Amino acid sequence: MAMDTNKEIKEIVKKIKKYNSIVIARHVGPDPDAVASQIALRDAIKKTYPNKKVLAVGVYVARFKYFGALDKEEYDDLGDTLLIILDVPTLDRVDGIMNLNYKEIIKIDHHPSDVKVGSVELVDDTASSTCQMIAELLFKTSLKMDKAIASNLFLGIVSDSDRFLLSYTTPKTFKIVSKLIEDYQLEFTSLYPKLYERPLNEIRFHGYLAEHLQLTDNGLAYIKITPEILKEFDVDHATPSNMINDFNYIKEVLVWIFVTFDDKNEIYKVNIRSRGPVINETAEKYNGGGHKFASGARCKTMEEIDALIADLDHLCEEYKRG
Ligand code: AMP
Repeated sequence: MAMDTNKEIKEIVKKIKKYNSIVIARHVGPDPDAVASQIALRDAIKKTYPNKKVLAVGVYVARFKYFGALDKEEYDDLGDTLLIILDVPTLDRVDGIMNLNYKEIIKIDHHPSDVKVGSVELVDDTASSTCQMIAELLFKTSLKMDKAIASNLFLGIVSDSDRFLLSYTTPKTFKIVSKLIEDYQLEFTSLYPKLYERPLNEIRFHGYLAEHLQLTDNGLAYIKITPEILKEFDVDHATPSNMINDFNYIKEVLVWIFVTFDDKNEIYKVNIRSRGPVINETAEKYNGGGHKFASGARCKTMEEIDALIADLDHLCEEYKRG
């Protein structure tokens, strides 16, 4: 059931009014929902309060440049600062705030979590995306929106709901999307190339993944992607993350995993998706977490990866039996 979040929304607007310096941050390894929501909220606050200093921070990701520029992490002259964290439940996964002294935190997020870090927590794990929550916040308050902000929010919602395929898509999602399109005259089909246009080598890499996916008797599909393979197809270690959702609705597959070695950080990055068993609790055991059916993990060794694969296979077996 959708949550009543009006009290938190009012509190958030009060805090935004109160602070002259606001830093908006999101999770490490950002996706379109994380980047679009932080840039949309920054631009809405700046449009409403042109004299406030509002920074959207974190690592710049070239392939998301169409959402707009991020700000330099220059925190020296900020004074009392409000930190708003988006699309992330815990502070350890927030990007770009290491040298920031903040006075207060607001969290806006759609991940399930009991961890409280903010003086105001707008958390709705029934929302399709953080962008849906930001759109609702802007529609319900005096914070201003324009066509560019609406376009960013639209793309964040489309991306995180996987084009409205995921079960977090609700009538509210469609109402908000419809209002964004109508109120701001979005020519939404012309926005899709920003999210979905890809070079041919990525399509060929996609073919490699389909070809080499291993399948267990219990319906677990997995693939271990080496740095050599990434090099062969001229793609980077973030590319598999953009493709994991494409492997939904395969008849034989209940849970699927991509394991990618990130040689820069010397860690295995794992993307996990499910169309049955709840996977986030298993992911949490392997330095990970996320949503019930879309999670991630980070492992240091192949032994840990193999244990994670075995755990998820067991989960599939139990699910099938149940
Ligand atoms: P990904 O497979 O990277 O797209 O992540 C799927 C979901 O899991 C997203 O909501 C992420 O925020 C979350 N997630 C990914 N990695 C981790 C991690 N190491 N710890 C907690 N949550 C994660």
